[in-house]
Amino acid sequence: LRNVSRQFKVSRGLMKGSTNLKAVDDVSLQLRRGEVLGLVGESGCGKTTLSRILLGLMPPSSGEVLVGGEPMSAADRKARARRIQPVFQDPYSSLNPRKTVSQIVSAPLEVHDVGAPGDRARVVAETLDLVGLPRRVADSYPGQMSGGQRQRVAIARALVMRPEVMICDEPTSALDVSVQSQILNLLLDLQKELGLTYLLISHNLAVVEHLANRVAVMYLGRIVEVSETAKLFAGPRHPYAEALLASVLTPDPGMGVPDTQLGLAYPNPIDPPSGCAFHPRCKAATDLCKARRPETIRDAAGLVECHLATPAPLPA
Ligand code: SF4
Repeated sequence: LRNVSRQFKVSRGLMKGSTNLKAVDDVSLQLRRGEVLGLVGESGCGKTTLSRILLGLMPPSSGEVLVGGEPMSAADRKARARRIQPVFQDPYSSLNPRKTVSQIVSAPLEVHDVGAPGDRARVVAETLDLVGLPRRVADSYPGQMSGGQRQRVAIARALVMRPEVMICDEPTSALDVSVQSQILNLLLDLQKELGLTYLLISHNLAVVEHLANRVAVMYLGRIVEVSETAKLFAGPRHPYAEALLASVLTPDPGMGVPDTQLGLAYPNPIDPPSGCAFHPRCKAATDLCKARRPETIRDAAGLVECHLATPAPLPA
């Protein structure tokens, strides 16, 4: 993503006219081939808008999406669908209950006219093998399947196009805890076997820590930190990332109640705070933070956008 922004016109209420809401604000972010990039942030921070732009479901207001260095226009839906596919959050609502598994999984091939019609049953059967579903479920309906099986069908529907990139939006949050790890391990196995690249959008930081190589932290439409996963969890550079990690519940009773540093409510994106948008909730905020937005530092450690941050030294 190069300097991608997306605005929406929203009403301020009766007699107050309308204003522009910046859902995504000048985001430049690179997804590296073969990696899992986690994208985290609270609800409303712009994660979903960003993924819709990547999938070509929504054009950016400005900026570009490049695939393999080539600009990809929103109009080029077939080329994009062959390279980037989504796995949505809720396998209960994202699968058509009136279609069989075979019809659901083959739908992208038909919509984008990929492969000869006579070959599609074979491709579907091979894809069911990949996600660990027996071929006999091809004639089943989603209502006859468990949540974990449905999410395997949703993953198969994405995989059938043999994409390079999968956008996994909360891929396990609608599932029972007992099957979440099976689906996460399936995603990891598929990534290794097929050399896939994932953008993993999740509220669940434990899932991100388990799967992601790098993590991008988003706040009010901007990416405020990008770091390698282990480094982020060991010592975040941005106060928002630190507060987000500190608010995670731990299963260890000895750790006590988490320090929920994010005391104040998430700001209204229609009226974002001045300067650094995190300043009303930031323990370290100064007058400068209220007055001026920090520069984006891109360095050897990744990216950070905070007045207190200093560029990381180059590796020796
Ligand atoms: Fe906090 Fe200031 Fe850094 Fe923003 S710029 S995160 S308010 S210290």
